[in-house]
Amino acid sequence: MRSVIKFLLVFALVFAVVLWLSGLGGQVEIRHGEWWIGVSLPAAIVLAVAVFLVLHLLLRIFGWLRGWPERRRVRKRLNDRALAEIALTRALVALAAGRPEAARLEVARARNLAGATPQLLLLEAEAARSLGDEEGATKAFEELAGRPDSRFLGLRGLLRQAEAREDWDTARQIAADAQAVEPKAEWLRAERSEVALRRKDWGEALALSNPEAPRAGLTLAAAEQEPDPVKARELERQAFMAEPRFSPAVLAHAKRLAEAGSPRRGRSVLQQGWDAAPHPDIAAAFLSGEEDRIRRVKLAEELTHRTQDHPESRLLRARAALDAGLTGRARQELAALRDGGHADRRCYDLLVELERAEHSPDAAREKEAAWLREAAEAPLEPVWRCGHCGTEHRTWKPLCEACNTAGAISWSGVGR
Ligand SMILES: [Zn+2]
Repeated sequence: MRSVIKFLLVFALVFAVVLWLSGLGGQVEIRHGEWWIGVSLPAAIVLAVAVFLVLHLLLRIFGWLRGWPERRRVRKRLNDRALAEIALTRALVALAAGRPEAARLEVARARNLAGATPQLLLLEAEAARSLGDEEGATKAFEELAGRPDSRFLGLRGLLRQAEAREDWDTARQIAADAQAVEPKAEWLRAERSEVALRRKDWGEALALSNPEAPRAGLTLAAAEQEPDPVKARELERQAFMAEPRFSPAVLAHAKRLAEAGSPRRGRSVLQQGWDAAPHPDIAAAFLSGEEDRIRRVKLAEELTHRTQDHPESRLLRARAALDAGLTGRARQELAALRDGGHADRRCYDLLVELERAEHSPDAAREKEAAWLREAAEAPLEPVWRCGHCGTEHRTWKPLCEACNTAGAISWSGVGR
């Protein structure tokens, strides 16, 4: 309907123009030398319009012919791109179906048609990895990393590869580059922390660790690696403050204070550590240097005065009393330990020693046998043990060499 109205309007306009032209009088004359052309004004106007239209048409045709090769190129490019997309989809399907060889062919076809795109390079790397061609995957990841729009993707792939072949120095460098591209990527921070652990760079692992993560072990490990004694001392203090129940930090901090000429502060730290979580190593440090057996009993009592009933406190007092020949006191402590249900192998070893100290060899033997039978049922003495592989360690270490896991060694004994 609208087109009919439009047609009628145009028709009316043309009709009006024709009427107006036919009403116009006058004449257009062109004279050149002896040449003379005379045309009526309406005919001249119609002629001029006709010439304009013909010229316009000719220019349009010329322009169209000139743009023809370019249009052909654009059409081919669009066509190639569409074909490349089809090839990439086929590659995806082939990968999902577990046919990486076919995926690789499709990716190569897509690359020939439309060149490399980030999606294509990712698929190429994935197909290469599925075929076990790590070198091919590296090439694709490097190409990805070389493009500003997909640098992070490429670095991520290279990082995974470096981690898989346990090349931790390269992994560290790549992770730092990736973090520079995407500073807000939280997982990358965790990744860098993991890489630092693998490189046994405890200082860097500490700097990158989550603030909520248990930091005492890492801080102490960083202190052991720190060449500057002032910084090492500060790290040991931080480790102790972060976790006063962590006996290695207690011992390191106390030792450093004693060496720096503050033995009283050192002993105070040992006392705080013992109060937080009694540990035989703390007792050994507290009593060290004291040879007099009676004074050792006094020191043991001083150390355990706030933790009277803790199994470690009882064991410590029993050991000191037995060494000093105070067998009655030792027996009292060991009996309380058994009654409390906390007697481990060490308690029975002391009981055997006690029988030998109190009785003749013949009388002792019978009692010893009874204790040894009970000892067989008792729990083992606590040790430093890797929570990952179960290996026992004589002392605490930041890394379990048996399974190469960091931060997994802990004390198996009871806390407070
Ligand atoms: Zn382990």
